[in-house]
Amino acid sequence: MAAEIIDGKAIAQTVLAKARAAASAFTPRAGRPPGLAVVLVGEDPASQVYVRNKSREAEAAGFRSEQHNLPVTTTEAELLALVARLNADPGIDGILVQLPLPRTIDTDRVLMAVDPAKDVDGFHPVNVGLLGSGATARALVPCTPAGSLILIESVLGPSLAGKQAVVVGRSNIVGKPIAQLLLQRDATVTIAHSKTADLAAVCRRADVLVAAVGRPEMIRGDWIRPGAVVVDVGINRIPAPERGEGRTRLVGDVATREAAEIARAITPVPGGVGPMTIALLMANTVTAAHLREGLPRPV
Ligand code: NDP
Repeated sequence: MAAEIIDGKAIAQTVLAKARAAASAFTPRAGRPPGLAVVLVGEDPASQVYVRNKSREAEAAGFRSEQHNLPVTTTEAELLALVARLNADPGIDGILVQLPLPRTIDTDRVLMAVDPAKDVDGFHPVNVGLLGSGATARALVPCTPAGSLILIESVLGPSLAGKQAVVVGRSNIVGKPIAQLLLQRDATVTIAHSKTADLAAVCRRADVLVAAVGRPEMIRGDWIRPGAVVVDVGINRIPAPERGEGRTRLVGDVATREAAEIARAITPVPGGVGPMTIALLMANTVTAAHLREGLPRPV
């Protein structure tokens, strides 16, 4: 039986609609719209697209939206000065510094400099700690992990009690926070990585399998437990000579067609986790705005 294809685009639209509604209720109450500042250093083409989409979505949601494009020659001190200005700006609720930063800049130092109350990426150690200690009501949770959880919930509902979850990948921005969220939903969580022995056997235990590796179609159909829910976070660009010379296409970390023969539900790439990430950024900005104004969390 073919798996349900989880429609990340459609689910992202419902998250965006809630964020927009919360923003339009917030604006008259606070006397100002929620504010998002997106900072890009350098000219990485993929980052330029991401940043443009984020700013555009923020405008569509009725936010004050600022985009700061800095040259690749920007020094760490200059970037830190901009972050300090945005921290001090009362009309800015969310600060997103697009990664990766040029090698000349210490990424950790920059992420640490963002006011945790405005850290809509959820990468500051304060938010990492709040998530790790289960204080999610006060935390700003990273967007891709939070979006992935909503996709899982769309199939299995809010409780994962009794379920085995396997997360492949242990990065600070994807793998580890997803594992924390699954644990909070009472799943029994395994985190696998490049040193895991017999990864295929570990994956076969999973009722919920999250792939966040960055290796095209590494997870094969026969690694999937029958009836599993599979979330493919990976975004990999591979050559697609069948589309013409020099053409490429996007694939995830899971061999989708094979896995869909076995799984209960699976996210596609593109159109799965990707659209959720930007929607959750808008939701996080509205949440940060409410928390900063002493209002209850809206979404
Ligand atoms: P990282 O490179 O930071 O982490 C990759 C993880 O995968 C590491 O923990 C690594 O293990 C593990 N890994 C690598 N090779 C193997 C292997 N052969 N077997 C098992 N584990 C392995 O990547 P990110 O977490 O930043 O991103 C992961 C993927 O998600 C990428 O494709 C990225 O493009 C995508 N992504 C998608 C987003 C979206 O919006 N959809 C947002 C962010 C990322 P180890 O720690 O041992 O090295």
